[in-house]
Amino acid sequence: MGKTIGVLALQGDYFKHAVAAQKVGAQTVEVREKADLGKVDGLIIPGGESGVMSKLLVRDGLLEPLKKFAATGKPIFGTCAGAILLSADIERYEQTSLGLLDIQVKRNGYGRQIESFETTLTVPVLGDNPVWAVFIRAPVITRVGEGVEVMATHKGVPVLVRQGSVMAATFHPELTEDSRVHEYFLAQV
Ligand code: GLN
Repeated sequence: MGKTIGVLALQGDYFKHAVAAQKVGAQTVEVREKADLGKVDGLIIPGGESGVMSKLLVRDGLLEPLKKFAATGKPIFGTCAGAILLSADIERYEQTSLGLLDIQVKRNGYGRQIESFETTLTVPVLGDNPVWAVFIRAPVITRVGEGVEVMATHKGVPVLVRQGSVMAATFHPELTEDSRVHEYFLAQV
């Protein structure tokens, strides 16, 4: 049986994630309401604008269903704004997050000068070849809890982390040809 990956499709970069997940062999479903979560084995929360997305999660009554989904142990992968939504703490902003990943983030934390940049990352779990990573007004992870595994860093700052079945990247693996991050996520599902 193939695996079905849901992509939270309230706002942001969900379409490219669906394409990336299909490329590594998953079927995909756009998740917009609680019932959609019942159809998927794992969930991707895309990049976009986390303030808008968190309001939409509240408006559409998705906070509790997403927490329940996570509690079943089904894997969740958040990228950029998705990482912000998964975090336990958001510096300076009063916005709702799911608190599924024990990290603190600072929105747009890379500052104006380099708010968007590309770089290579060493990601040991993905092998020797570096991963080309695109950062777009990315959050900076400013604290990781004890239970959080840091899978990659950039200049000493965690950029790919995982706590049990919840994983987050502050870059955008859906924007590059390299499928290894999506492949890794799919393997957890
Ligand atoms: N800057 C956005 C935020 O704070 C995240 C950007 C992104 O997802 N590419 O929500």
